[in-house]
Amino acid sequence: MTIGRRADILDALQRLGKKSIRATDIAAQYWCEKQMELNYLKGPEITKEILKGKEIHEELENETNIPIVLQTKSYADFMYKSLYTTYKALETLKKNKKSRELLLYGNLGKFRVVGKMDELLVSNGNVVIVEDKTRASDKMPSAAQTKSHRAQVILYKKLLRDMISGIYNEDLFSREYGINRLSVTKEFERQLDALGVEKGIQTLPEITLKFFREYRSIGRLSDTMVIRYINQYTGKRIDNYKFKASDEELDGTISFALKYWNGEREALPVPYEEKWKCEYCMFFGKECKVWSPQRKL
Ligand code: SF4
Repeated sequence: MTIGRRADILDALQRLGKKSIRATDIAAQYWCEKQMELNYLKGPEITKEILKGKEIHEELENETNIPIVLQTKSYADFMYKSLYTTYKALETLKKNKKSRELLLYGNLGKFRVVGKMDELLVSNGNVVIVEDKTRASDKMPSAAQTKSHRAQVILYKKLLRDMISGIYNEDLFSREYGINRLSVTKEFERQLDALGVEKGIQTLPEITLKFFREYRSIGRLSDTMVIRYINQYTGKRIDNYKFKASDEELDGTISFALKYWNGEREALPVPYEEKWKCEYCMFFGKECKVWSPQRKL
């Protein structure tokens, strides 16, 4: 494996057209890092499975959260809507002990990170992270799939822990996202009025403060995390995968992923023992010939 020069890889990061790392990128890295990179460079394949999974997530969200309809006209409107929606979802968590689709922000080294947790619930006084994954059959996933899902949830734990403790807070966020320079549009303000949102929290700095304060008051984070597997056709729960992650596992998971983003190595293909994954990959034998039978050695 050739090790890319740092400058090359930083350019490659820009080529991905990204300003921040998503939690799902980290999960994808643990499936196949090269595939994750190619998805950005060549465009992802939107499969029927992805669309079905999205539908199930929306159904579940509407079961717990009050739907918030806000049309956005600018980046500032979009940021406001994102923060406000999660702020309201956190209020629901306190009231109903359960809430869905909660945004998380934070840092990994010098990079901004964004994630969206499927669910938080309060169990025995502790806040539990729950992630839903859909499957095409009633079978639980292989260890390789679980590893990728586990990495995503471990990252949520880190981001959530940093927000609850205040390590990542409104000041850092406002600086990184230029919050104090942003104003929502007049049209958006009218929609906020119609929704009954108090005038006092209709600006981005104010909703940012509310958002971070609400996170800091949700309570103690449980050591146990849950991945809930759901049959994408029947909508039935297959089983829950419950796990804990030590600080060593958390640090190891993140530092492995960061080596790619930091430019310490090129995107890794799957190892020989996992080349079965290539059969399910749209880039196999075309953009990626690492394990292609036609590959000239
Ligand atoms: S063909 Fe295999 S190694 Fe290459 S990107 Fe796809 S899954 Fe990864």
